[in-house]
Amino acid sequence: MAKHLHGPMVFGALTCSLLGLVGWFHIQFTQEKPPALKSEDVFVFEGVTGPTEKTVVAPSGHSSLQPYAVGGPSRLAVLLTEERSNWLGLAHGLKSIGVPFVVTRDYQEALKHRVILVYPTLTGTSFPGEAIRALGAVPRNGGTLIATQVLGGGLEEVFGYSGTVVASRKQEIRWNRAHPLMEQMSDPAEWVTTLNGKQENPIGTYSYAQTRGAIGRYTDGSAAVTAKDYDRGHAYAIGIDLGALLLKGYNNRSDGFTRSFDNQFDPTLDVWLRMLKGMYQMGEPNAVTIGTVPFGKSLSVMFTHDVDFTESMANAVAYAEFERSKGLTGTYFVQVKYIRDYNDDIFFNEQGVRHLARLTELGMELASHTVAHSASFSRFPMGTGAEQYPSYRPFVKTRWKAYDATILGELRVSKFLIDRLGGGPAMVSFRPGELSNPFSLPQALVATGFRYSSAATANNSLTHLPYQMTYDRLSESEVGIFEFPVTIEDEELPPMGERIPQALMLAKQIARYGGCVVVLIHPNILDHKLEFEKQFYEAVKDWAWFGSMREFGDWWSARNALQVEAAAEAGRATVSINAPRRISGMTLEVSSGWTILPQAGVRQDGRTIILDMVEGTRQLHFAVDRS
Ligand SMILES: [Zn+2]
Repeated sequence: MAKHLHGPMVFGALTCSLLGLVGWFHIQFTQEKPPALKSEDVFVFEGVTGPTEKTVVAPSGHSSLQPYAVGGPSRLAVLLTEERSNWLGLAHGLKSIGVPFVVTRDYQEALKHRVILVYPTLTGTSFPGEAIRALGAVPRNGGTLIATQVLGGGLEEVFGYSGTVVASRKQEIRWNRAHPLMEQMSDPAEWVTTLNGKQENPIGTYSYAQTRGAIGRYTDGSAAVTAKDYDRGHAYAIGIDLGALLLKGYNNRSDGFTRSFDNQFDPTLDVWLRMLKGMYQMGEPNAVTIGTVPFGKSLSVMFTHDVDFTESMANAVAYAEFERSKGLTGTYFVQVKYIRDYNDDIFFNEQGVRHLARLTELGMELASHTVAHSASFSRFPMGTGAEQYPSYRPFVKTRWKAYDATILGELRVSKFLIDRLGGGPAMVSFRPGELSNPFSLPQALVATGFRYSSAATANNSLTHLPYQMTYDRLSESEVGIFEFPVTIEDEELPPMGERIPQALMLAKQIARYGGCVVVLIHPNILDHKLEFEKQFYEAVKDWAWFGSMREFGDWWSARNALQVEAAAEAGRATVSINAPRRISGMTLEVSSGWTILPQAGVRQDGRTIILDMVEGTRQLHFAVDRS
């Protein structure tokens, strides 16, 4: 049978952490000797030894503002009041939703922009009086002032509330569907979103007394997000640390406030990001945002398979043949199982390698699903970085007990063997068994040459968009790894083949704003699971883009490096693009009334501009009708 993807987590965070603790005690305090492996319990490929180069995990640093500090006035300006804050969460969120921005500590720089977001706090001592007065004048002068945790500065009048209360750990926000920014939130799951659960580090919340017009309110009726409209300008006060909330999701530290594990729609962070994007587009007439799905489609879909069971190796080929017949590229996370243990028999052997070679021949992406496939992977020691096949011999004794296993061993040895024997290009994608997710995974992936991770679920991440990871899953330092969380999987009941309507409903919910769907199917059987994939594909193919994790990861990371600036005057607008890495099917969303002037390789569909290919700098020209 397929191994548990999520084990006890379905029963709730408490059960999960208790079992986790039990497992930890077992590992830490069980002094038993590892059982001696017999030679028939290990499969050794003649003459294959490696990897030879040592892995070194870089120390943590502090991400600099500098890469985020450059850009023109058409962007949103994040005016940072405290550098020691969760600004990286906010930066990654804005990148994910595609709002171009700059981060600055200088209020005069921020004042060059029409839309300013003051983060993380705005108090009477954040700036000199003249700066606070200048910021307060922004909405009156036609600009947009957004500020999180506004606690003072005499700006009540500007934001339109009469008082602030420390409301500490509010649980949820009810959104005002009548507000123009919320019109796009057409799904009931977007009308109430969670802020805090039972976790130890709750997000501090403030509430505002605003009788009319608030965009979001806590359950007691006080305002969480205020709104005040001016002739042309706008002012919004947000009562929470938005960067902290984003990092709760991105760092998978939201235990206790997710409502489901996967297979369901949880748009918590996406509601906030779409609202911010809306504030930007409403406030900046030259707003140009970066699309989230290649070639102007509505949804990005990745079919992924965890090959972690004896029969799965042969079955994987059947999935790959179907995918190949439709021009799809699946991602196959293969457990490098050369040791017989509690989990299963050996299947990474001569026969297994022949199946891998066939997957490569069919154009599929090979990826790593560890060596040991242990639920306690998240508690393995980092290791020495010198672990090598065949002397690296992790042994899984029970679900929570493993010997001689390390994080680096799992990563570098699995990568070495699949790269060496699989016949494909060097692998870049990783998914741990049981989604067991060590805090140190991001930096360990960097050190071992991976680029893309699928170690979390969308619902535990609170988002249906990909995101960038941070060192130790904390707030100080970003790493060059992107996470593509699992959206739909096959282990929940009823059986996958009976859940096609629900899966399609979910795909449509996510497609409304260009999210992504990662489908996980264990190829332990064909039957209703393969049927699910076929029917899901047929139902979404007209409006979805499909790719492997490598393909979408390459696209997403190239998009992440893309910069856009816009300027307009006298009925004309120019968008300047800088794409450090080549990217196909890039899309931009422009203001209504913009019409692209004919140019090879570029087309317009409503407000969406689709570029066949962009690399380096490029300019697009538009006729602008402001009527
Ligand atoms: Zn697995």
